Amino acid sequence: MSRLLQNPIEYLKGVGPLRADLLKKELGVFTYEDLLNHFPFRHIDRTRVSTISQLTHEADFAQVAGVVLQVDIIGQRSGKRLVAQFKDKTGVMELTWFKGISWVQKTIIPGQSYLIFGRLGFFNDRPQFVHPEVERIEVAQPLEKNYLEPVYSTTEKLKAKGLGGRQLAKLTQVLLSQISSADIPEFLSPTLFKELGLMERREAYQQIHFPANAALAASALKRLKFEEFFIAQLRMQLIRAQRHNHSVGVVFEKVGNAFNDYYSTCLPFELTNAQKRVLKEIRNDTAKGRQMNRLLQGDVGSGKTIVALLAMLLAVDNGYQACLMAPTEILAQQHFASIQGSLSTIGMTIGLITGSTKTAERKKILAALEEGSLHLLVGTHALIEETVKFSKLGLVVIDEQHRFGVAQRARLWKKAVVPPHILVMTATPIPRTLAMTAYGDLDYSAIDELPPGRKPIQTAHRYEKDRSRVMEFIKTEISKGRQCYIIYPLIEESAKLDYENLMKGYEEVKAFFPEPAYWISMVHGRQPAAQKEINMQRFVSGDTQIMVATTVIEVGVNVPNATVMLIESAEKFGLSQLHQLRGRVGRGAEKSYCILLTPPSIGKEASERMKIMAKTASGFEIAEKDLLLRGPGEIEGTRQSGALNFKLANVLQDRPLLEWAREQAARVLDADPSLGKPENQPLRIYLQQHRGAVNWSKIS
Ligand code: ADP
Ligand code: MG
Repeated sequence: MSRLLQNPIEYLKGVGPLRADLLKKELGVFTYEDLLNHFPFRHIDRTRVSTISQLTHEADFAQVAGVVLQVDIIGQRSGKRLVAQFKDKTGVMELTWFKGISWVQKTIIPGQSYLIFGRLGFFNDRPQFVHPEVERIEVAQPLEKNYLEPVYSTTEKLKAKGLGGRQLAKLTQVLLSQISSADIPEFLSPTLFKELGLMERREAYQQIHFPANAALAASALKRLKFEEFFIAQLRMQLIRAQRHNHSVGVVFEKVGNAFNDYYSTCLPFELTNAQKRVLKEIRNDTAKGRQMNRLLQGDVGSGKTIVALLAMLLAVDNGYQACLMAPTEILAQQHFASIQGSLSTIGMTIGLITGSTKTAERKKILAALEEGSLHLLVGTHALIEETVKFSKLGLVVIDEQHRFGVAQRARLWKKAVVPPHILVMTATPIPRTLAMTAYGDLDYSAIDELPPGRKPIQTAHRYEKDRSRVMEFIKTEISKGRQCYIIYPLIEESAKLDYENLMKGYEEVKAFFPEPAYWISMVHGRQPAAQKEINMQRFVSGDTQIMVATTVIEVGVNVPNATVMLIESAEKFGLSQLHQLRGRVGRGAEKSYCILLTPPSIGKEASERMKIMAKTASGFEIAEKDLLLRGPGEIEGTRQSGALNFKLANVLQDRPLLEWAREQAARVLDADPSLGKPENQPLRIYLQQHRGAVNWSKIS
């Protein structure tokens, strides 16, 4: 970034302190560079002048040249307006103003020629302009401008201070006239630049603001979008390389008894190929003496837990401890229970620490942990507390990562001298390319296959009027010995109302399913942890047939005998969340059902969501649809990081460009891992000058 571009915006001719203040407050424009990066969101074609007869409903903005015939002020008070009859050689149309009438009246003189530009409207099927821009011209001849006019977003406050879209365009034009290629140097190496056939940087900035034609505008946009992706990818890949080359990690060199005994005696099924592949990736990664930082993605029910457990046993086989951190107490509890059962047979010890672990129990566990006699620890975020000290921590598994922040992860990692290996698991499916963009600094594994024999879950959208039929259906399922979830929404903003709805719902369910023929568990966020656990446990053990719950149940819980997932007010849930909930059933041998219950009329988008759920089973496909409906900014866990949000580029619409940029970034780093070659100096300088988390001291 040149010195010039760092200039505060008030240095620019035509800005001054007052406007500078507003530009900062309203648009976040502090420097020349910021203004340059305040891109137009569209362009208006001012290269074309139409005739009045050519104006059709398809046109959006239009430009005509002609003579004003007559000006009248008509109407009273709020209906008062100025109407000008305007004529070219093909016809006559009206120009209308509701505001600034006296000023317009002075400017527009009958008999004079004007160039008129504005948004085209129709009144009684006749074209008209309301508040058009007018420019006096000598003769009523087309006067062509040689560029597409940029349209900038602005605010009412800015407009009031004379900084509307057109003024922003003028400022930008002034700025561009002062800027040379030295201020916006090309950072792609000459070879790469030639090969990629992209527009040069300085030129791209010119053409994105004031393109000479549509083709150049497109080229400029492509260049700048590429640049955003390319730089982000380089940065991620550098961080990753940094870790690969310089991190120290504990070495899991052998597979020993813990792993083998479990594998041969406790594993109740054959691993899927995807599970085996991921295990291999983990084994390779942990044997190299550098820290593993791996993201494991797999659809709900794809069997991530067993992979995590085997990885943990691998740690134990090499003399290390391992821990598994879960997002909720229920889930931690369940992981603990399922792991504990099988582990005792192979002589492994495991502890559970959550917010509600009793002091005495806690003391015992912590002592065993610190002394090294406890092999595995499962828990909630209580695990990151200062008091939890390991003797030799080798692996941290984090389930459903999006609920943990980066800072929290870092705290875990400080619990050992050599940072432990990290395995982050998530069932929030993100298409692979996007995952690699959002988490490009992590290594990536995917379980892209479900265990065999899973029956597809039948999903149906039902309305309020179908309620009693739905309940009858549930009765039939229960009579076959199955269990059922009934889920109510819990939206933080209206927690109180949701809670009341849940209670009301619970009473209704109880009326449908009276004791002692039926027993109901209820779990929600306001219960004390111990209460939740008891209720959950009763459902897990089959004492209760129905689980009424809010979305606390969303992640991870495993009750294979449950075959019906009824979601109340399903229109209030997002697609990914619905898919997560649906994943709670279909875990056993029996056919399962997911019923989405909604009021009779729901919005268009909500009804689209219901349709997608009914016909799509794959989490990855649903994730794609979710992205299209909601946009990338909403992917859980990436919202704050902004990893998927770019100024110009869009990770969904520009996916091929993203792929391409990623390949190019990899190519550059393959050939020159530390960007030390002379031809890559501009790139290195650019990365250094634009904020990022690359530690250059570690790149040799
Ligand atoms: P998730 O990936 O959603 O965490 P889980 O690890 O909870 O999934 O696994 C879901 C269910 O599938 C569990 O009941 C688990 O025992 C079972 N399972 C996992 N792997 C296999 C496999 N290879 N074959 C059969 N069942 C499996
Ligand atoms: Mg899970």
